[in-house]
Amino acid sequence: MVESLPVSPIVLGGAVVFALALWGWWQFYQFCPHCGALARRVYVGWRRCRRCGRQYRRGLRLR
Ligand SMILES: [Zn+2]
Repeated sequence: MVESLPVSPIVLGGAVVFALALWGWWQFYQFCPHCGALARRVYVGWRRCRRCGRQYRRGLRLR
């Protein structure tokens, strides 16, 4: 066993959980490419942003 890790296993586990949570969140949400507001992720077709009213789709680049 290597006990000389710079970070404790708890911190390491927390980082993994955090990364997984972020990844899960990213499956459902994205940022509006026009105004940067949080918006539901598009799977098919287009969606309209609640804040700026402009349409966005999945392939648009994130800001
Ligand atoms: Zn917007």
